[in-house]
Amino acid sequence: MNERDTEHMLAELKEKENYDATDDFKSADLILINTCSVREKPVAKLFSELGIFNKKKKDGAKIGVCGCTASHLGKEIIKRAPYVSFVLGARNISKITEVLHKPKAVEIDINYDESEFAFKDFRSSKYKAYINISIGCDKSCTFCIVPKTRGDEISIPMNLIIDEANRAVSLGAKEIFLLGQNVNNYGRRFSGNHEKVNFTRLLQELSKIDGLKRIRFTSPHPFHMDDEFIEEFASNPKICKSMHMPLQSGSTKVLKDMKRGYTKEWFLNRVQKLREMVPDVSISTDIIVAFPGESDADFEDTIDVMNQANFEQVFSFKYSPRPQTEAEFFSDVIDSDTASVRLTSIQELHIKQLDKNNASKIDNTYTVYFEELYNDGFISGRSDNNTVIKVKGSEELLGEFKDVKIISIGRTVLTGEIIN
Ligand code: SAH
Repeated sequence: MNERDTEHMLAELKEKENYDATDDFKSADLILINTCSVREKPVAKLFSELGIFNKKKKDGAKIGVCGCTASHLGKEIIKRAPYVSFVLGARNISKITEVLHKPKAVEIDINYDESEFAFKDFRSSKYKAYINISIGCDKSCTFCIVPKTRGDEISIPMNLIIDEANRAVSLGAKEIFLLGQNVNNYGRRFSGNHEKVNFTRLLQELSKIDGLKRIRFTSPHPFHMDDEFIEEFASNPKICKSMHMPLQSGSTKVLKDMKRGYTKEWFLNRVQKLREMVPDVSISTDIIVAFPGESDADFEDTIDVMNQANFEQVFSFKYSPRPQTEAEFFSDVIDSDTASVRLTSIQELHIKQLDKNNASKIDNTYTVYFEELYNDGFISGRSDNNTVIKVKGSEELLGEFKDVKIISIGRTVLTGEIIN
């Protein structure tokens, strides 16, 4: 989502102000930091990086802070780092060329102007197009700051999404990547009087686009994984067979305290249905350890779900208390040593499962869509089920689909050879 926001700001700056991106911040006229605020660490990092940029930047260069931390800290950022020229919230990024000319501007109000849904077509990759399908988040997960920084969940009208996808495909993208905090809750609320459609229907309409080969999306919410959605996922050949299922905790009690809306049993039942209907599916997840009140038995439930679900990818985090969330005030805080031990257990189990899953891929054949050239004579892409695979090859392969047989296994990248 942040990458897409960055693409949009860059496009606005190119079009209206003649800016271009550079790799060398010391020569830049403008330094933009697009921030995240889901955990405390990136917020602390913002202030240390700001100090470095301020010391080393070119004379007269401006520094702007954008994104979720901008939304959440607002003018506090300029108080703490007075050399910052402007602060632009996650929902205000379309104003980038306005704030550029207003000294010390702070734009963080959340409004529902539909003009903000229209993102520029400029993309950093020619092969894959990120497309927002909703903004904001309507959930009330007690640990999460996102609803405060990105506002209420509003679905973008289907015709705008289809137009954007058509334009992306005509510009060369064969894959689109739909973005939203709860993509499978698409259609719950529009800002205007738009045709009521759900996510399944949106997927069906997008699949009709000629020249579009692959559809990915993130994040679906486990609570909204009904049979209709899973069946569309299974049967639509353009939908890539990789599903993100953010578990957060395997304990029904903790899930309740987190207000996630599902139980351990529901989650496992959805995994089972997916694995039955799509034998080749790869499932990734997010896990938070040491949420307030998480007992040893609760934590064992998370391990149990990991053992049963056998996730292909696990992103795990220590719980980080966030301002303006309910859990910030929960008692029974877990000490940091226990949190570290739990995080390590999750990560060790994940590595064990990953190595075992990867080992079973040797000699398998996958269709790879090549999108990234390395500088060591290799080129990489992803299989339908999201495995990163590299082969020896050069740029003629970019944007091509090839069948690749796996010849050796690494932890994050597998190596193969083209057979077709
Ligand atoms: N909309 C997604 C969440 C996006 S944030 C969902 O509902 O699942 C991405 C991930 O960051 C979350 O899935 C969660 O695992 C993690 N996260 C969010 N808030 C956190 C917090 N306060 N502490 C630790 N991890 C957190």
